[in-house]
Amino acid sequence: MYSLEGERTLLRFEIGPNEVLPRYLFSRRSALVAVHLLAIDRDGAIRQTSVPAGELKSALSGGYFKAALPDLTDDTREVVVAFDLPSHRMTLERAYLSPSDLVLDREFLKSLLLLATLAGMLSMPVIFNAAFYRILREPFLLWHSVLTVSLLLTILVSSGLAVVLFDPPAMTLSWMTTVIFGVTVASGAMFTHSFIEPGRMHPLLRRSLLYCAAWAMFLSLSHAAFPFVGRAVQSSIYTAAFAPVVIIFMLSVADALRRGSRAAKFQAIGYTPVIMAGLVRLATGVLPWLESNDAMFLFYAGCACEVLFTALGVADRFMTIKRQRDSARFDADVLERLSERDALTGLLNRRAIEQNFETFRGEGFGTLAVLDLDHFKAINDAHGHVVGDAVLKAVAEALQADPQVHAFRLGGEEFVLLARGEDAQARAERRRQAIPLVVANSVPRLGRPVTASMGVVRASPKTSVDFAELYEQADKLLYDAKLSGRNRTKMALMPGSRHHVDPVFGTLTR
Ligand code: GH3
Ligand code: MG
Ligand code: MG
Repeated sequence: MYSLEGERTLLRFEIGPNEVLPRYLFSRRSALVAVHLLAIDRDGAIRQTSVPAGELKSALSGGYFKAALPDLTDDTREVVVAFDLPSHRMTLERAYLSPSDLVLDREFLKSLLLLATLAGMLSMPVIFNAAFYRILREPFLLWHSVLTVSLLLTILVSSGLAVVLFDPPAMTLSWMTTVIFGVTVASGAMFTHSFIEPGRMHPLLRRSLLYCAAWAMFLSLSHAAFPFVGRAVQSSIYTAAFAPVVIIFMLSVADALRRGSRAAKFQAIGYTPVIMAGLVRLATGVLPWLESNDAMFLFYAGCACEVLFTALGVADRFMTIKRQRDSARFDADVLERLSERDALTGLLNRRAIEQNFETFRGEGFGTLAVLDLDHFKAINDAHGHVVGDAVLKAVAEALQADPQVHAFRLGGEEFVLLARGEDAQARAERRRQAIPLVVANSVPRLGRPVTASMGVVRASPKTSVDFAELYEQADKLLYDAKLSGRNRTKMALMPGSRHHVDPVFGTLTR
């Protein structure tokens, strides 16, 4: 068992008589001040080198540093390694001597290729998130990108990939690993915080994920910046301090699952291997009788799993939100349309004509008719409101038969027609005259034909005139029609229009 108690820890390696002579010391990198290497011969001769931490090289094997030994001879019987202010048990546990660094053999190339593939895979969600974000503007898309990039960097700094690509000093990789780990945990917490659907997680748990993110950043930044404060126990405390984060995270996902969150299912599957790797690290890092194990392979596999399922979850969530928004937009369209329609007859209402009058005029609908049923009250009185309603529906049907004529119900038993074309007035008149037959067919046994009176005006195409003005003119003519006996049409031309006699009309006024 190794202890970090002393300011300087010595490790002794015996060199067997027929052994291939080692040339390097390798060990897990962690913050320390210097490494001293002593080769001791059979006759007591000592050769020594010292390497300050800043000059330690990174080893190809992920997470390790290497230091060149002083020259060893066939007489060398032992190598003593002294670590000044070591800060992690693993640096002592994992130290070994070897004649060479890893060579770029088949196995190593294979593992590099796998890691590079994994890294490439991790960059895809970032691209998709950017595309999704343009449409959805949901913060979880951004947090997923931060999380994915930090996992990408984690793989880079904790494997030999960064060494092959950039060969950074071991201590640089050491503090980068720590900071990136903090960012990974924090962005993971932020992602879950924003990703679980509204109402599917207890508000307290959701809020505590925010604290987890802040806590993780605080821990990793202070651990990277001050590695020697409480050095003998700092690494253990640091690792243990993440326990609440893991617990809150698992509680949050469990709570969301219990509340039927779909997003949480993807989270639960995706995170299981990473959490397991984390638990192995936590347990072996904190419990002194277990040898530290950073479960690197499980962790890489976990990264792939996490990104795959989280990306699937994000895509799934994207579709759900998009579907909801599309359907909300559709409902709004329907409501918008309904509000321009009369509930009883389905005809467009006054609002529709007022709001679209300019458009209708632009399309050539320049003739306006106001139409009122004759003695309609008598029908209600004799047969009841239900029959009256049926009559109004039949009237609407009669008024709609011509595509060159738009029909509107202004209220009660009063309708407006907008007609276009050379024979616009005649078309409107034909609609009015269709009423008795259509009503008689749909509502039998009324005892008498249902007729309507109408006033028609035609606006000159050149003059600009608004709906209210035309309507007032037509309404006056309707009043005339009622006064002069009902079941007839009075029409006029607006000032500026030519007089025009239509053979369909019995009565023509100006
Ligand atoms: P006139 O020929 O002078 O127009 O006679 P009228 O009886 O049609 O005149 P009035 O405008 O006084 O009567 C309109 C009646 O229409 C009054 C009301 O009972 C009826 N009414 C209005 N809206 C509705 C409706 O939505 N359904 C039914 N069934 N009746 C309606
Ligand atoms: Mg009436
Ligand atoms: Mg009326």
